[in-house]
Amino acid sequence: MSTYEAELIVSERVSAADGVLALTLRHPLGEELPGWEPGAHLDVLLGPELERQYSLCGDPGDRTAWRIAVLREPDGRGGSAYVHEQLGVGDKVRVRGPRNHFRLEPASRYRFVAGGIGITPVLPMLAAAEAAGAEWTLLYGGRTRQSMAFTDELARYGGERITVAPQDETGLLDLGPVLDVVPDGTLVYCCGPGPLLDAVEARCPAGVLRVERFQPKEQQAGGEREFEVVLAQSGRSLTVAPGVSVLDTVRAAGVEVLFSCTEGTCGTCETDVLEGTPDHRDSVLTEEERAAGETMLICVSRCRGERLVLDL
Ligand SMILES: Cc1cc2nc3c(=O)[nH]c(=O)nc-3n(C[C@H](O)[C@H](O)[C@H](O)COP(=O)(O)OP(=O)(O)OC[C@H]3O[C@@H](n4cnc5c(N)ncnc54)[C@H](O)[C@@H]3O)c2cc1C
Repeated sequence: MSTYEAELIVSERVSAADGVLALTLRHPLGEELPGWEPGAHLDVLLGPELERQYSLCGDPGDRTAWRIAVLREPDGRGGSAYVHEQLGVGDKVRVRGPRNHFRLEPASRYRFVAGGIGITPVLPMLAAAEAAGAEWTLLYGGRTRQSMAFTDELARYGGERITVAPQDETGLLDLGPVLDVVPDGTLVYCCGPGPLLDAVEARCPAGVLRVERFQPKEQQAGGEREFEVVLAQSGRSLTVAPGVSVLDTVRAAGVEVLFSCTEGTCGTCETDVLEGTPDHRDSVLTEEERAAGETMLICVSRCRGERLVLDL
C-alpha cells in the first residue's frame, strides 16, 4: 500500500464542465510523483476532519503532474465546496496516495459505463484499453451535455465506440444494448451515481462487473452486536460495542491505523482478517472478496460471530 504523502501545488485550475473543476497538482520542487494506474485515487486533505477522495484522471505516463476533477456537491458536507471556493492556482494542498481499488484487469474486451463525474477514473482506462489493443465501448451519461466533463478529450477516439447520452436529450442510459449480451472475455467497468451502479449491478452477468462508488452504498441498518477483536500483532483483545466501529475501537486503544473516508468507500483502512467472519458493510470489496473474507474495511464492517482476529 502506498503511503506517499506530500504538499503539492495547484498549477492549473480549469472548468471541465458545469460544476466540475479540473485541478493539476505538481510537487513544489518539481520532484517526480509516484506512478499510478488507471482507477487510482488520491486522498485530498482539505482540512482537519475534511478528507476526500478524488480519482486521477490525467496521464499515468506523466510523473510531473496529477490531474483530478471535482464536481461541486451543493448538498455535501463541504469537501467539494472547499475545492471550488478555496483552491486556486499557486495554493498548496496535502495529498496522500495514490491508492487503487478499481484496477483495470487484463481483458480482450471492455464495456465502460460512466455517469456524470464517474467519468474520472474511466478516462485513463480508455487510453490504457486502447494502448493494450483491447476492444472497448463507452456509454457515458450525465444530466445535460454541459454538465459532462471531458467530452472534448473523448473526441480523439472517434464517435463509433463512444455513446454520449445527456439525460435531457435522450433520457436515462439505455443499458440493454451494453449489458444484455456480454461475450466471454469481456469486463464491465462502471462508475457513477448509486442508482446507475445499482441498475448495472442488477443487469450484469456474475463475475464480469467492476464498480467504484463515490458515495457509500445504502446499507441495511441493525445487527449492531458487541463482539471481540483480537489484534494479532500485540495479542491484545478489545471489545467492539454496538454503534462503535472497529476503527474507532482500535484507535481508542492507541493503535495507529491508516484510514480516510470512514464511510466504507475509499478502502484505506482495509485490514487482513486472520480468524472469524466479517459482516461486510463497505462499498469497495467485490462479492468474491466478501465471500473470501480475507480482508475487511474496519471503518464500517463488523463481525458475523463473536470474535475476529485482525492483522493489526
Ligand atoms: C474512491 C473515490 C473516488 C472519488 N473520485 C471523485 C472524483 O474524481 N471527482 C469527484 O467529484 N468526486 C469523487 N469522489 C467523491 C468525493 O470524495 C466527495 O465525496 C465529493 O467531492 C463530495 O464531497 P462533499 O464533502 O462536498 O460532499 P459529501 O458530504 O461527501 O456529500 C456527497 C453527497 O452525499 C450526500 N450526503 C452527504 N451526507 C449525507 C448523509 N449523511 N446522508 C445522506 N446523504 C448524504 C450529499 O447530499 C451529496 O450528494 C470520490 C470518492 C471516492 C470514494
